[in-house]
Amino acid sequence: MKLLEHEARNIFAEYGIPVPEGEVIRSPGELGAVMEKLGDRFVLKAQVEVGGRGKKGGVIVADRSNGVERASSLFCMDIGGMPVREVLAVEYLEIQHEYYLSISVDRSRKCALILFSEKGGVDIESLARDQPDALRRAAIPVLLDRVPPFMIRDLLSGAPAEIGDVINRLYAVFCKKDALLAEINPLAITRSGIYAADAKLVIDDNALRRQGIAQNRDLTEREREAEKHGFSYVELKGDIGVIGNGAGLTMATLDLIHYYGGSAANFLDVGGGADQERVMHAVRLVASDPSVRVIVVNLLGGITRCDEVARGIIAARVRQPIIVRLAGTNEREGREILGSSGYRMLDSMEQVVQAAVEATR
Ligand code: GDP
Ligand code: MN
Repeated sequence: MKLLEHEARNIFAEYGIPVPEGEVIRSPGELGAVMEKLGDRFVLKAQVEVGGRGKKGGVIVADRSNGVERASSLFCMDIGGMPVREVLAVEYLEIQHEYYLSISVDRSRKCALILFSEKGGVDIESLARDQPDALRRAAIPVLLDRVPPFMIRDLLSGAPAEIGDVINRLYAVFCKKDALLAEINPLAITRSGIYAADAKLVIDDNALRRQGIAQNRDLTEREREAEKHGFSYVELKGDIGVIGNGAGLTMATLDLIHYYGGSAANFLDVGGGADQERVMHAVRLVASDPSVRVIVVNLLGGITRCDEVARGIIAARVRQPIIVRLAGTNEREGREILGSSGYRMLDSMEQVVQAAVEATR
């Protein structure tokens, strides 16, 4: 789950990373009291979970004379499709240099990866593409609770040594908060010291409970519904809805869709021992995605009974055609129930997938 800048910066501050003075406001009227603390010039920053706010007009430098007016215009904006409900007002920093610093999970190396660049402030993807040499990396072996000094020296090269302390503090945030990404861009050098002028923190969804976060705000309404039922459910960009039981069978179904030239809109793993009720909810959930034009149900009866599955499919009463492959426990009963209601059943998963791909052409 992505945290908003002001949430991330509060955590950074808790871990001793200097952040500029500032406060969140929820309406332009609240700016008056905050301005008193910020000095003549300040920065108004839209609190939306969208990257590159600066380029999209979501970061505005203002002063006492125009602050309220600029804040009002910011509250009326939509940035990357997100309405602006909160604005962070922070003191304006006289920035001498902008660095880039992030720690993320390197999945292939199975460890934390620190990225540092002396060319901060800009979009990091384009920097990595256009000037890969400007980005220095250090992979931190697991179990280390501090970044070893030799790695910090390599990362910083000629950059100010005080940044080493920020790296270690950010590393502590990264580990303690179960982060997938902790980023400071820009890490700003001013005459009065170093500041995290922006803050980004993405928490691993699997660690939300441990982090005391009750609700994953990043979930779509359907993903939230899936979580409630305990379904594994993922949304994709295609037009075929997929229901399977077990991660292996569900993934294999997706692979086949790709193999036959189709594309999945989503997939849902109902898990083991799904009864009629559960299957009904699964079918309704997958069908409620407006981009789904046809649904493939690929279920293997073990503890799950095919007759229960068949009744669940019928009870769902969804508008899209459903193509079914059922095999295993009570297969004959399941087929009879579906057959008598006019559902299309095929014997192999290749066949159901091919039929679904053809139906979307
Ligand atoms: P982002 O575009 O969403 O990454 O938002 P940032 O918080 O990084 O702000 C965008 C850019 O605005 C930064 O890269 C800075 O160059 C600039 N900026 C933000 N705050 C200040 C500030 O206090 N002083 C100066 N000089 N520039 C700032
Ligand atoms: Mn930034």
